[in-house]
Amino acid sequence: MPDTIDTAVLTDWVHRFRDAVTDKREWLTELDSAIGDADHGANMARGMTAAVAKIDAGSASTCDELLKSVGMTLVSSVGGASGPLYGTFFLRMGMTAGAAAELDGAGLASALRAGLDGIVARGKAEAGDKTLFDAMAPAVDAFDAALGDGGDLAEAALSAADAAESGRDATAPLVARKGRASYLGERSAGHLDPGAASTALLFRALADAIAG
Ligand code: ADP
Ligand code: MG
Repeated sequence: MPDTIDTAVLTDWVHRFRDAVTDKREWLTELDSAIGDADHGANMARGMTAAVAKIDAGSASTCDELLKSVGMTLVSSVGGASGPLYGTFFLRMGMTAGAAAELDGAGLASALRAGLDGIVARGKAEAGDKTLFDAMAPAVDAFDAALGDGGDLAEAALSAADAAESGRDATAPLVARKGRASYLGERSAGHLDPGAASTALLFRALADAIAG
């Protein structure tokens, strides 16, 4: 198992995430119809389809070019809250990755952390607000912890994917305090957060892309 990832692996990640949100589009929409406006599946599928088209048409040779291109496409092609949030995640990842052709575990960890921080700067979500933060923060923490324990990139990514799925599941009983679902107050409890569900797909796609 190589201990770096290059733009080919990042490209594979973006493709796998596009495939996942496309396959699970109806489910994401169903989750958003319970506590939002039933567009999360459409938003993610549209945004990621556009992002894949953009990177496939380009010839990014560095991690920052590739990640920024995904981020800018999401910001410009998705109208909902998720477009600017996921867009910021990829843009900040790109800014932190810099003009490197490859990232090692620590490099990917810093980029993921910067992506998460960007989402917080933009959406001000905190733990337990029932947003995609509740899947992403545990995932980024688990990634760091696995590396700290001597794990390689693949182990760190697997551990992040598992943590994102647990974080997604833990959103069910929560009352939403951010975004559209917060308008429902107590009635938002009892449903998974759609953004946390798509974030779990994002981290599973990363683990699969790294595993090859
Ligand atoms: P919209 O809410 O505009 O219809 P989407 O349905 O595509 O957009 O995305 C909804 C998801 O966005 C929510 O499930 C939640 O995870 C996430 N979200 C909304 N507001 C915030 C926020 N302020 N911070 C983090 N995530 C948020
Ligand atoms: Mg919505």
